[in-house]
Amino acid sequence: MNADLIVVGAGPSGLTVAAEVAKLGLNVIVLERREGGHSESRAAGLVPRVTELLASRGVADRFFKESSEQQEWPFHPGHIYGGESGIKWRDSESRFDFSLRIQQWRTEKVLLGWCLDVGVDVRFGHIVEDFGEEGDGYAVMARTSSGEEVSLTAKYLVGADGGRSFVRTKLGIPFIGKDESFLAVVADVVSDYPIKTNTVHYSENGWISAYPIDESKFRFIGVHAKLGSIDVSPAKGSPVTVDEVKRYLCDLLPDIVNVDDMNIKGLSWSNRFGDALRSVSTFRSGRAFLVGEACRIHYPASGVGMNFCLQDAFNLGWKLAYVLKGYSDPSLLDSFESERKPVMDRFLQSIDSQCTLQFTFTEGGKAHRDHFREYLLPLPEVKKHFVRELSGLTHPYDSEKGSHLLSGERLPDFDLILRDGRCSWVGNELHDSEFVLLDLSGENVFQSLNVEAVAPVRVVCGHGSMLPEVMIGVKALLIRPDSYVAWATDTTPSLTEVEEVLSKWIRLP
Ligand SMILES: Cc1cc2nc3c(=O)[nH]c(=O)nc-3n(C[C@H](O)[C@H](O)[C@H](O)COP(=O)(O)OP(=O)(O)OC[C@H]3O[C@@H](n4cnc5c(N)ncnc54)[C@H](O)[C@@H]3O)c2cc1C
Repeated sequence: MNADLIVVGAGPSGLTVAAEVAKLGLNVIVLERREGGHSESRAAGLVPRVTELLASRGVADRFFKESSEQQEWPFHPGHIYGGESGIKWRDSESRFDFSLRIQQWRTEKVLLGWCLDVGVDVRFGHIVEDFGEEGDGYAVMARTSSGEEVSLTAKYLVGADGGRSFVRTKLGIPFIGKDESFLAVVADVVSDYPIKTNTVHYSENGWISAYPIDESKFRFIGVHAKLGSIDVSPAKGSPVTVDEVKRYLCDLLPDIVNVDDMNIKGLSWSNRFGDALRSVSTFRSGRAFLVGEACRIHYPASGVGMNFCLQDAFNLGWKLAYVLKGYSDPSLLDSFESERKPVMDRFLQSIDSQCTLQFTFTEGGKAHRDHFREYLLPLPEVKKHFVRELSGLTHPYDSEKGSHLLSGERLPDFDLILRDGRCSWVGNELHDSEFVLLDLSGENVFQSLNVEAVAPVRVVCGHGSMLPEVMIGVKALLIRPDSYVAWATDTTPSLTEVEEVLSKWIRLP
């Protein structure tokens, strides 16, 4: 075999899975049809609980550095939901309580750097044209930009090749849902006009959002009630023109801006996208997996789609690595679908409902929005719920009946004061992608377990500091490599109980 894993697509999903697998010393090849560099600028940033995941691998600082090349102050405390501003990330219960404003091409640049550091073989200019099962893995055929055929084999295959996924089609996995009913326009407008962060505006003509990208550009997204309708709009893929952007600005912000004052010099990037909504019924076929937008397409409501893709990738990456290393039974891989598909289904339901709220330009639609804005969104519990929804955390992973409240939830954010005197954020213990068996009881109960030498488990004993409410009384936790709680207890556990819990996830000798 040429590799343990071949990943098709070097977008955010593919690069993240690749880095997660390669960092445990496995051979990973990424095949990307683009000639090099990074794709265009769709996603505008990272949300708190995703920044937290990257921080738990020790790479968040790279994103902070890259984003400050784009904007002097890339940390934004708020977000939108269903087209309405008012969401506050301080409700995220994370120390990273901000959206990090960073263009997708910069995110991909940082992810690529991470991949190269951990030894991933990233091959640009390779379009995957065919693959099939061979022995215990896959034979993949790619064609290079110069027309040469390249054949490669690997034990596992990941299709991270986006909404029009070739891998999905070739595996025969149906992509079920609905077509567009309208097309929106997005453009990065070259202009030094001072646009305020999170400018959102409705009129009877449609909806518009704008925010600064850097000193010379602002991002504009518009849905025009008439011009965007599917029978009137120029087709998807046809270029957006400066005149069209000006027309949108005039119609959608009539009393707010004078387009002639905006000194628009051009568009550095633009696109048309709609509200088509499609998804797969399964994330895998044999040893081939789909991740990110290969599993779904949707309108980018509230701008969090890539952040959900990155969470899929974090879920799949360590599991593939553990199975390939022989640490875990291959059945662990079934949990990728059983954990992430309910999250995806819930997310798509949220997207559909946000689109209806946002883009129904009738009297009734306006009344519904006004009601939502004035009476629902200001309620603290509602805001908190939407923060969880945008973070992809409304649907905890399966946990057994009678298990602890925290089981299957994302690890809460807190600090540790360790026995060796270090004071540390709990996420720092996850840098090496191990399970963390955390003893907070003060009794050092795991001292005689001797598991560290034989399995990817880090045993940590410390005092929990800055504990959120939900952690009060917790004596011990088993944290998964992707920052989810596998098990928790409020009583001092016996070693037999802990061994039983560990053996559900990893092979113990
Ligand atoms: C207008 C717009 C705005 C958005 N804004 C946001 C936002 O603000 N925040 C957010 O979180 N998300 C946003 N998103 C969503 C985000 O862009 C996607 O979720 C993200 O790009 C999906 O990543 P991916 O890696 O799964 O797929 P992609 O980014 O599509 O990457 C797939 C890769 O596979 C490659 N590929 C395809 N076929 C082959 C093949 N046969 N062989 C080799 N390579 C292949 C492609 O070239 C591509 O590089 C937005 C999307 C749009 C359209």
